Amino acid sequence: MSRMTTAGTTARKNKISPRSEAEPRINAAEHPYGSLEHILLVLSRLDSVYGHESTPSDAFATGEPLDGLMLTLLSQNTNDRNRDVAYGALRKKFPTWSDVARASKDEITLAIKYAGLGDIKAERMKAILAIIANDFGGYTLTRMREWDSDRVRAYLSNLRGIGPKTVACVMAFDLGLPAFPVDTHVARISRRLGWAGEKSTPEKIQIFLEKTVPPERCGGGHLNMIEHGRRICHARAPECSACVVADVCRERSKSEDDL
Ligand code: SF4
Repeated sequence: MSRMTTAGTTARKNKISPRSEAEPRINAAEHPYGSLEHILLVLSRLDSVYGHESTPSDAFATGEPLDGLMLTLLSQNTNDRNRDVAYGALRKKFPTWSDVARASKDEITLAIKYAGLGDIKAERMKAILAIIANDFGGYTLTRMREWDSDRVRAYLSNLRGIGPKTVACVMAFDLGLPAFPVDTHVARISRRLGWAGEKSTPEKIQIFLEKTVPPERCGGGHLNMIEHGRRICHARAPECSACVVADVCRERSKSEDDL
């Protein structure tokens, strides 16, 4: 799950060059893996390639936080392409959230079939829309823009089927609040870089990153890590020889020690 759009992933195709051997390696004794300095160094290197921090795009924001919440709910357990197809089909058939709320569960399930788990997601959508209409007097979450982070997080976390990653996506991309969503790519890279133990859960990693990464670097840093996971640090066979953070990666240093 991510907020990256299928268009967004192809919009930035900077050339990736591995780090020069002449550049200094991080002093692991002074800046251990997972220290603030280490994390900031990695984020800056990734940004030099992918640029989501330095040249942010609003392509990932929806404008209406409720749109973002529903989009992210649809993205659970599927890829961005299927999510986008399902979201487009849903909005075409039911242009407003009020239309979705009035539709039957089966109608919604059919409209979002490309996202998978259609019946579960349709049920959750209807339940969430009913709660929001009751709490906000309509199908909008724009009033949340006046809330602080703790209040937003507590409210969204209480909605059934909305986990920490979805909450963080809505906070970061639709409300401009500091949050660092941890999906499978961010979790994998965090473990490999030495920011988290090999068995750390995404939820634990998210708590750690949100406590550690400066607020203004969270959203772009998250997108840069996702792009790195998709393009270089694959789940299987990461392309370490083409990686800009190879010289400061714990996983890479372990494999070099094995040589
Ligand atoms: S060096 Fe390899 S394992 Fe480490 S972050 Fe880069 S691609 Fe991933």
